[in-house]
Amino acid sequence: MNWLEGYRSRELCEALMSEIRQLAAQPLRFMEVCGGHTMAIRKFGIPSLLPETISLLSGPGCPVCVTGRAFIDQAIYLSGLEETVVCTFGDLIRVRGTDASLEKARAEGKQIRIVFSSLDAVELAKKNPEKKIVFLGVGFETTAPGTAAAILKANREGVKNFSVLSAHKLMPPAMEGIISEGIPIDGYICPGHVSTITGTKMYHPIVENFGIGCVVSGFEPLDLLQSILMLVKQVVKRKPKVEIQYSRAVKPEGNPEAQKIMREVFEPADEWWRGLGVLSYSGLKPNRKYREFDTREVFELPDFREIEPNGCLCGEILKGLKTPHQCVLFGKACTPSNPVGACMVSSEGACQTWYTYEGKN
Ligand code: SF4
Repeated sequence: MNWLEGYRSRELCEALMSEIRQLAAQPLRFMEVCGGHTMAIRKFGIPSLLPETISLLSGPGCPVCVTGRAFIDQAIYLSGLEETVVCTFGDLIRVRGTDASLEKARAEGKQIRIVFSSLDAVELAKKNPEKKIVFLGVGFETTAPGTAAAILKANREGVKNFSVLSAHKLMPPAMEGIISEGIPIDGYICPGHVSTITGTKMYHPIVENFGIGCVVSGFEPLDLLQSILMLVKQVVKRKPKVEIQYSRAVKPEGNPEAQKIMREVFEPADEWWRGLGVLSYSGLKPNRKYREFDTREVFELPDFREIEPNGCLCGEILKGLKTPHQCVLFGKACTPSNPVGACMVSSEGACQTWYTYEGKN
């Protein structure tokens, strides 16, 4: 199928919308837990195509948005140490810590470099043996295999001056955390990219323990509408289950090779999420075998407290309890060029996507 003409076909979209309208008589709340979906849903105006009975909520699916200020503070602290260079992907650079962002710290002369791959950070370590290179490991199951590959490479090649400050997170504990907080949800639109790695086995406890359906969705308008229809049908038939809409990319078993290197390098760890706090075993850190590559083992790091900016509602937005328009700072004190909270920094953050596609008022 041709991408633009096929997955954006007006006729097929209208057919799906018509079926959704016929079936969705009762109020339904579906949550997307993927920043890519948050952006696609707003970009394509999906809410405006749905009946009023269906609400789409943005969940904790944008990795930059759920990363804590204390993590940024730790990274800035490290970048100020002698002979230490902090390497990060570009999407994190503008997230504020308590007093500054990595971007501001870099402008003030701190050693912070943007890399395009975790392996670039290993190469930097090899070329600069006198420096200590710290890679900021951020993201879900999608990016964790890349970080694991970097650690394996550093281990294989005897690179001793490379370590990872990990804030990697696992999706299912957050999805369960949302339900455990009593936030009413009738179905999850599950992340496409994450599921290419993990497969779908990890969603079964959500169906079995909480009776909430999970549909792994693609990112085009037809994908999203079809996923919503699949969830509506599950609710109407009272048969929640795990389904894959995004079958052109996701297999039930996921990517075994990527899973293998994650298992080899990481172990589960408690992790802090914006809005949800610390969730048990919801993160990843290098295991005992690769401890020498864990920044927290290599450096003595001070404790930094999680303090959110005054007035910022990111925590509640990431749980689907508020929308960006309900924040008094939205579009005024907080804009993409001058973001106050993390949800306005990332192009996948709810606040930036609302600002970009739905207007700033
Ligand atoms: S608009 Fe800005 S301050 Fe308000 S919730 Fe969003 S990121 Fe936070």
